[in-house]
Amino acid sequence: MPGSFDILAVAAHRDDVEQTCGGTLLKMAERGRRTAILDLTQGEMGTRGTAEDRAREAGEAARILKVAWRCALDIPDGRVENTYDNRIKVARVIRELRPRVLILPYWQARHPDHATASLVGYEASFLAGLAKLDLGAAPHRPYKIVYASLYADVRPTFVVDISEQFDTRFAALMAYRSQYQDQEQGSGLFPRQAEIRERIAAMAGYYGLLAGVRYAEPFVQKEVGLVDDLLAIPVQSI
Ligand SMILES: [Zn+2]
Repeated sequence: MPGSFDILAVAAHRDDVEQTCGGTLLKMAERGRRTAILDLTQGEMGTRGTAEDRAREAGEAARILKVAWRCALDIPDGRVENTYDNRIKVARVIRELRPRVLILPYWQARHPDHATASLVGYEASFLAGLAKLDLGAAPHRPYKIVYASLYADVRPTFVVDISEQFDTRFAALMAYRSQYQDQEQGSGLFPRQAEIRERIAAMAGYYGLLAGVRYAEPFVQKEVGLVDDLLAIPVQSI
């Protein structure tokens, strides 16, 4: 297992990260940051494809996003629960990777797995820092936790400009061929690729518009923003 990472994104399902913060991860990697993804489940409940298909596709998507490390835990898909065992599984990964920044899903969500993944990630971060909890690796707590809020209907506290990463992020999502290629099976559920792209561009365009850029990904942070220089605050007011 590799040493220190800059950013770890935790999500319930493979392809969640690609939809919510993949552009941000790519942008950070392009700037020389070491990024990682931890998926809590293996996707065995998906309508299309098998867990093995999704494992292969997730690896391909990680390569496209220049993510240095990706792993999926064995928590049951559709049954992500905030148990001590699950928190410990995530805490172990946090200690091994030692990320400075942790990206979690927003804590309120339509899909219960997403909301629970947020709680599990937060509480695992707390556990990971407990000096007397013996998990084999040295205690570590992320310095910063931010919440990827694309799935949630909340106003972000900041957005990341992904105008230059948008196309590549879309390619990473399309790496999930079992999910997104036009097929007969379940065709009532899955929109065609062009429609998906239009929907994703509309979302990224909306968040971009809020900040005066073309495409962006939204995040919420619980802490206040700290400003050193009023003249350096971005995003025009009027
Ligand atoms: Zn999901």
